[in-house]
Amino acid sequence: MKDIGEIKHIVEVSGGIGRACEECSTWLGSDSFARNVNHFLQDHEGYQLLSVGTRSTGEESDAMHFPIAILGK
Ligand SMILES: [Zn+2]
Repeated sequence: MKDIGEIKHIVEVSGGIGRACEECSTWLGSDSFARNVNHFLQDHEGYQLLSVGTRSTGEESDAMHFPIAILGK
């Protein structure tokens, strides 16, 4: 594990949002949060999980909550 100060690059993986992997352009779908996190940990060299939390969108009454992970290398 690197110290946090040694991290040179981070990526954000968020549930509910689909986007292409910035490393290899593999499509990371919005319905597969864990798989998307695993993609960086397993398919790309050097990434480690730095933080996992929740992102909220919308107004309080109908807010939606999505998992969010920060990975770095
Ligand atoms: Zn990738």
